[in-house]
Amino acid sequence: MNYANKKVLVRVDFNVPLDEDHHITDDTRMRAAVPTLKQLLDNGNAVIIMSHLGRPGKKRLPDGSMDKERFSLRHLVPHLSELLGRPVIFAEDTVGPDAMQKARELKPGQVLLLENTRFNEGEKKGDEALARALASLADAYINDAFGTAHRAHASTAVVAKFFDKDHKAFGLLMQKEIANANRIIQQAAHPATAIIGGAKVSDKIQLLERLLDFADHILIGGAMAYTFILAKGGQVGNSLVEPDKTQLALDLLDKAQQKNVDLRLPPDSVIADAISEDAVTLVSDSYDIPDGWWGLDIGPESAESYGSVIKQSKTILWNGPMGVFELPPFSGGTKAIAKAVAEATRHGAFSLVGGGDSVAAVNQLGLAGSISFVSTGGGALLEYLEGKKLPGIVAISGE
Ligand code: AMP
Repeated sequence: MNYANKKVLVRVDFNVPLDEDHHITDDTRMRAAVPTLKQLLDNGNAVIIMSHLGRPGKKRLPDGSMDKERFSLRHLVPHLSELLGRPVIFAEDTVGPDAMQKARELKPGQVLLLENTRFNEGEKKGDEALARALASLADAYINDAFGTAHRAHASTAVVAKFFDKDHKAFGLLMQKEIANANRIIQQAAHPATAIIGGAKVSDKIQLLERLLDFADHILIGGAMAYTFILAKGGQVGNSLVEPDKTQLALDLLDKAQQKNVDLRLPPDSVIADAISEDAVTLVSDSYDIPDGWWGLDIGPESAESYGSVIKQSKTILWNGPMGVFELPPFSGGTKAIAKAVAEATRHGAFSLVGGGDSVAAVNQLGLAGSISFVSTGGGALLEYLEGKKLPGIVAISGE
């Protein structure tokens, strides 16, 4: 990171949500990269920024071509310029003639934003020729895109091959993400509590297995709780479950018992006769949900008991909502957890919240400032916590 007077190629995660008129609706990811960009600029470097935006390869136009208007990084230029307090030059391509010429002419203190890396078919394939062309634009490479560190793409990992160890580094955001995740998996103060929610057990099995090694309490919420409850012989009505994962759920419960980990399921649930805002809702025993009803949030007793465990914890990890928090009648559990995590943090606990929905909940409640660290990574954070080697990290540090 301590480069001066160089041309530095920086991979950021500017994959921000845009509305129909291409206005940015949440600039968190852009703001997260600003410290790295400013430091490089203050040290007299010229900065070449690259990122992906959306899924142009998947969401194609009817004729099969990419929707280059919808997914263009051009839409980000005015806001980026405002955040950096200086003009931003835009290249119409990523490694084409426009990018090459503008990168060549770039002066110290200037900023060049390249067009969406995913407009190149080779990006997601980790194409070497594309990576080499990207590398040819600059003297040094910085990866500050933690959110895509689990992908071995041309701009996130392969490009680093073309720089020696003195000319590639993590950005400030990436350094913080790694240090904070390590604080959970290597240096957790006890009691350590993991709150895991979301839709599917299958997405989080490896994480749950890993958590058994260092958590004292695991609090389960979201739809995944009903797969566990079904496995234990409960009646879950129409709740979202993965029937083929019940054995796995039983194995996890067994392992938790062997390792003396307090793995909790929600004793009560907010249930409804439809997944909609105006559905009839009731509080029910989670093990006795009638047919025709869906368990859509943890109930008040669960929120209370989870909250008291959280408030006594010294280390807290939270990933995944406790219910269908997008709909107000089913957001109470997630909100209660967010408040408990914030309170524990105010009393000295270290808390890390990661994953789009839990971060959205914390932001909606204006509690982000009361959390020790709000991660910008969803899948990348989970894989890191699971103990996997992330290609974007290995490409820089070798491990
Ligand atoms: P994930 O991406 O696995 O963290 O899951 C997040 C999604 O799970 C959100 O869109 C929630 O609406 C959904 N979800 C959480 N709890 C439930 C539930 N009890 N039933 C159905 N969907 C749920």
